Amino acid sequence: MARQRLGQHFLIKGSVLERIAAAAVPARQGPVIEIGPGRGALTEKLLKRADRVIAIEVDPYLAEHLGRKFAGEPRLEIVEADVLQTDLGQWGQAAITGNLPYYISSPIVEKAVRLAPPRAVFLVQKEVAQRLAAHPGERDYGFLTVQTAVFAKARALFEVKPAAFYPPPKVDSAVVLLEPVEQKLLFDTWPFLQFVAACFRHKRKTLRNNLAGIYGCAVDEWPEAGLRAEQIPLEGFVEMFERVVNWPRMHTDAHG
Ligand code: SAM
Repeated sequence: MARQRLGQHFLIKGSVLERIAAAAVPARQGPVIEIGPGRGALTEKLLKRADRVIAIEVDPYLAEHLGRKFAGEPRLEIVEADVLQTDLGQWGQAAITGNLPYYISSPIVEKAVRLAPPRAVFLVQKEVAQRLAAHPGERDYGFLTVQTAVFAKARALFEVKPAAFYPPPKVDSAVVLLEPVEQKLLFDTWPFLQFVAACFRHKRKTLRNNLAGIYGCAVDEWPEAGLRAEQIPLEGFVEMFERVVNWPRMHTDAHG
């Protein structure tokens, strides 16, 4: 991929780098994985706080530059790879951080939270941070919010203006903290998230309208039928999904 398409906006503001490193590594405990280290500005701050840093960079030119810059630093492992093709679990329980390439920030966040790291701290487009940390009823609440909430509690920490980067991006950015949820879902998340996606298919439509094509008029009887998905908290989706997965059995029982 051409380098200008790799989302290369390098952080140059020291105070922002310090704050991200402090949020990602509040105590010297376990390794930290950095996604997209670029020229190593955040890497340097992380090395001051963590015993071990694993830095995953897809651009061979930057990976080589990092190798030279940090030559003789045994606590840093540079991995030249696409993060989306990398098994992030291979280093055991590790915090995950990075000033993410914005073109793939959502799939990176999804991949990271599924691993339930002790904490993940990402600099993302402000709009993405708002979607991750939104509450039911808010404009930014949507599928990405619920998908993330299945695995992690998200909190927007602080905003970062374009002037903190070189070259400056066209959008505002924000740092988001993700911590694992205490209560995990008791069922397979894949069919559950398919159900949630169907609920959000047309954001302005009611659940009745979004689900009628799949589940017929039975949804009409639901107390939530006239609501929109953006009004439903995670527990509400779980409750509705449990109704859906029980349907065939209830139907058979009733007729047989
Ligand atoms: N961390 C650096 C900083 O703050 O100055 C650079 C951040 S820059 C926004 C994103 C970095 O992610 C770039 O170095 C880019 O080459 C790298 N990157 C882009 N796509 C990637 C991928 N699929 N896997 C790993 N790194 C990637």
